[in-house]
Amino acid sequence: MKLYEEPPAVISSDAHPAHKLKLQVTTDGPPFRCDGCKEPGGGKERRYSCDAGCDFDLHTTCALASPTLKHPLFGGDVEFELLPSAPPPVDATYCDACGDRARGLVYHCFDRDLDLHPCCAALRMESVVHGGHLLKLCGEAELRCVVCGEKQGRRQSSSSSKRFWAYRWCYDGVTGYLHVACMKKIAVMSWEQDYKDGVGGGVVEASVTIMEGMLRRRSPTGNAGSGSGVELGIRGLENITKIVEVVSAVSSS
Ligand SMILES: [Zn+2]
Ligand SMILES: [Zn+2]
Ligand SMILES: [Zn+2]
Ligand SMILES: [Zn+2]
Repeated sequence: MKLYEEPPAVISSDAHPAHKLKLQVTTDGPPFRCDGCKEPGGGKERRYSCDAGCDFDLHTTCALASPTLKHPLFGGDVEFELLPSAPPPVDATYCDACGDRARGLVYHCFDRDLDLHPCCAALRMESVVHGGHLLKLCGEAELRCVVCGEKQGRRQSSSSSKRFWAYRWCYDGVTGYLHVACMKKIAVMSWEQDYKDGVGGGVVEASVTIMEGMLRRRSPTGNAGSGSGVELGIRGLENITKIVEVVSAVSSS
């Protein structure tokens, strides 16, 4: 995939042919939903918006997605095609990276029936955080994920388990895994928190409650849960902050 170091200031897109789309560099607005892939985006994230004032936004990754894609985690013989929406049956299309539904713009492989959100396809294979600690994108978690405590990921609204992508890192001699799906959930929470810090909002308080509940379950002093995440490094809010830093390191475009 071509890397756009400096995205063009104005583009035309088949997704919104009526008007030009303009790159928004600084927006401190609420998190948005991309009108391409239908996935969320951060309020401070660069995006393309309709220059004529329509309520139309695209992730930069979706606006600039190449028409075809090969991904290192699937090998060189697997080719994906960018489609404006998921192929039928539409309500049964799930991203093979994160397990969430693919509701819009999607990379599809007809030979292998694989699907990837453009944002998942664009995740960095490697990223360096915390003074040289290396994060690597893997096809599956070999240990329990630090957030959900499970090895396998789950498809959204499904009881069937399947292996989904995760980031692996080594921190203080301990190897940790974080599902891409769990990373996305934390990213949305942190975007909402950012927005709340500036403006306020009810949805955000709900997310904070969820996060606090998650920490209690994973804490050795908590009174519920198995504590399976504890040895993997979740020991408090400090670690969540690290994860949020990890998330922004791998997802910022
Ligand atoms: Zn998008
Ligand atoms: Zn428009
Ligand atoms: Zn995905
Ligand atoms: Zn997880």
